[in-house]
Amino acid sequence: MTVLMCAHVLAFGSICAIQPLHPSAYLIPIPNNITVEDGTTDCSGVVEEKIDANEVRLGDEGYILRCGKDSCKITARTERGLFYGRQTLEQLKEVGVVQCCTIEDVPKMRMRAVMLDLARLKEKHEYYYHIIDQLAKWKINTVFLHLTDHNGCALEFKSFPQLATRYAFSQEEMKRLIKYAEDRHVELIPEIESWGHARWITSVPELSDLAESKDKPGSLCPLNPRTWEVLGKIYRETAALFPSKYLHAGCDEASFGICDKCKAKVEKEGPDALVGEHLKRVCELVKSVGKTPMIWGDVLLTRRGSVDYVPKDSIICHWDYKADLSSEPVEFLRAKGFEVVGCPAIVWGSREILPMADTFDNVTNFAKIVLANNCLGMETTVWIPQRYIADTLYPALAHACELSWSGNARSRLDFMKAFARQFFGLDPSPEISQALLDVHSLSIKGYSKITNVADYARLVMEKGEDDSPPMPEVAEKARQIIGILRRTLSKVEKHREEFESLILAGEIRAYVEDRAVAVYEIVSLLRKAEKYSNEGKKNEAIMALKRAIELVEKLVPIDTDLSSRLTQAWNRWRYADDPKKTEAGDNLTGGFAKSGEFLRTTLARLNAAVQAVEKAGSVKAETILE
Ligand SMILES: [Zn+2]
Repeated sequence: MTVLMCAHVLAFGSICAIQPLHPSAYLIPIPNNITVEDGTTDCSGVVEEKIDANEVRLGDEGYILRCGKDSCKITARTERGLFYGRQTLEQLKEVGVVQCCTIEDVPKMRMRAVMLDLARLKEKHEYYYHIIDQLAKWKINTVFLHLTDHNGCALEFKSFPQLATRYAFSQEEMKRLIKYAEDRHVELIPEIESWGHARWITSVPELSDLAESKDKPGSLCPLNPRTWEVLGKIYRETAALFPSKYLHAGCDEASFGICDKCKAKVEKEGPDALVGEHLKRVCELVKSVGKTPMIWGDVLLTRRGSVDYVPKDSIICHWDYKADLSSEPVEFLRAKGFEVVGCPAIVWGSREILPMADTFDNVTNFAKIVLANNCLGMETTVWIPQRYIADTLYPALAHACELSWSGNARSRLDFMKAFARQFFGLDPSPEISQALLDVHSLSIKGYSKITNVADYARLVMEKGEDDSPPMPEVAEKARQIIGILRRTLSKVEKHREEFESLILAGEIRAYVEDRAVAVYEIVSLLRKAEKYSNEGKKNEAIMALKRAIELVEKLVPIDTDLSSRLTQAWNRWRYADDPKKTEAGDNLTGGFAKSGEFLRTTLARLNAAVQAVEKAGSVKAETILE
């Protein structure tokens, strides 16, 4: 790296011809105020730390960091402020030689949060330590744990031990994680779903009567007294375990007014009353266990007549994952007197492989709304881990962390240059930084094309076309991006696995598009083979089948290679015996494993079809892709 070479020259007393980069070129988040001074330093001198209650403008989290030629000094009003000053200093030290500077840095947002989805996939416990450590370095002060959802519960409750699903945290294990986070000034806030997303409760036989409807067990019935008995016990245990002053009670995407009692209430008093009374009761219950309630905003915002039921000291977490979201709901809630947390997402819905490019815009635009409306802060959510490669999260996460601390202070390309320097130890050309941004355009929506090639092939066979047709131009673009990243790999000094996971993501997308082209061609060849065999044109039928065999044979080794690398990536942070690793559906790694099986079965069937036609039999296209 040029800066390191420069340090070497300096050690021999020569004049350094290359000026070190401006400190903002490698700091994440970018400091809000930085003054560069004469001279350079490697920050290895004495570090003085001082708590000064008089520095009122620093608030509870700000710091001043002076990096002089021989010594550094961090001043803050609190231990937390000193911690953030230290994080900045550590980043400067990693670079080697930097320009002397004074950084005065105060965060733009009070709550800087990331939400992790433990309910849908429990990663190895060490993963949560690893990611909290990284987030703290980027000055995140809150991590929401989405502990419950349809798929299960990631925490043991002593009152209902049957709720905890495989790999769940015991309370003792959770205490250790809470302490680890606290040592890094990160507060863990538990989220317990208390209305919709409730199959973690209703799928337990002895609690199934809490469901709003037997046919739709996804929501709890608000008028069933048992609902409150069970939630009360769970909240009390949660409140006792987590020292945070907040408890997030979920309440998003609920179905209501289905059971006889609820239906009658809705008919008599209207849906807003049912919604409002439930949300009010949930918030009162949270308050009764000594916590400040937080709830998702969607049901409330759909039924605006319910808003005035909700206690004004509740905090509304408003989620909207569109790139060009509206600020109106936030303005509405703020005008009603609520504290609001803005919640963008970097992975959600059916998005696959890695964070999608449009989510960078979602985070950027949400940060603007949060700041313009003086919201409590921003909670960047990361949903459904089994759909993405764990180690691809960091560019998107770092971006969200930077915006939470600094607002939108620089161009995305400048941010990515700083990220490439800090996280990968690169001296990036604009081309490399652009490729690190562009790789996110290779993420994809809709999972049958990517994780279930059997379904995809059948769709193409049945309909002749599908809502996700092959995109050979994306495969071409993917190859260009991967080419740049591959050439860069040998220069990556840190986080090599994370860099390789971005390459893997790009290769998967290129392969998926190539595979989609092949599937279309195979379907067309099978139709021809069927037609020829029916017409008694044996040779033509065999030729079409053999061409299809060639296409599948080309796919199999690439599929096997990608599947094995996905498995390695999975094993780094996820449980090797987790069924999601091998089950298809919307699981990326599992989908690839199943797709490989399908290709091999298809190959065997094609070979059998050739033999059948040779013996003057006919071929039926559908049966080959069954
Ligand atoms: Zn009901």
